Amino acid sequence: MRQLIAGNWKMHGRLADVAAYAAALGQTPGHVDLLVCPPFPLLDRFSAALGGSVALGGQDCHAQAQGAHTGDVSASMLKDAGASYVILGHSERRENHGETNAEICGKTLAAMAAGLTPIVCVGETGTEREAGAAEEVVRTQLRHSLPSDFAGVVAYEPVWAIGTGKTPTEADVTAMHGAIRAALVAQLGAAGLTVKILYGGSVKPGNAASLLALPEVGGALVGGASLKAEDFLAIAAGAPGV
Ligand code: PEP
Repeated sequence: MRQLIAGNWKMHGRLADVAAYAAALGQTPGHVDLLVCPPFPLLDRFSAALGGSVALGGQDCHAQAQGAHTGDVSASMLKDAGASYVILGHSERRENHGETNAEICGKTLAAMAAGLTPIVCVGETGTEREAGAAEEVVRTQLRHSLPSDFAGVVAYEPVWAIGTGKTPTEADVTAMHGAIRAALVAQLGAAGLTVKILYGGSVKPGNAASLLALPEVGGALVGGASLKAEDFLAIAAGAPGV
């Protein structure tokens, strides 16, 4: 399976940054799929600049198709602006906006209905890991965030590794990705075998190749290091070939 290297720009970037970044992504290594998830106002400009060579995604969407939801964006609006993916349930949304697993499930259904591929994020806090509860926390998030007909991507992002420079050990990533695969199969049947599982949390050019080579790692969700095209491409270059 080709790996997916996804960049989450979070709340960074300006329209003026798009052209140079998109041009740099012209050097994309051919053995991986690249995805950029910029803030909403940059999507349309990115879509024109990339011309379909790199996929685009949003960072959230509402569960409803339209309506009186000030400040929100629907999945079909993302699609209209050129997105084919959407990140859902990122830990910053769970924490800063109090998003629950049930709400994330509703957003996931909306994304699928609009023809977007949802990337549903799960991951434990440092306290939960120290308490030995990491796998159970992630299994619970999967059970309640994914609809029974889920078709999309899961991103394992330990909360304590996001933006901190810390990463789990290779053994911990391997164990968690194996547990996620088992949970996906238990929940979705055979469809659970083909869901890509991304690793996210302080992925950098220097650690990407070793993380991406681990079993059941189908790519990476990259925050800070995706803001510089050079670093993002170096991470992508570290993905194993098919
Ligand atoms: C993220 O926000 O999804 C993320 C993984 O961030 P970082 O790579 O900066 O840790």
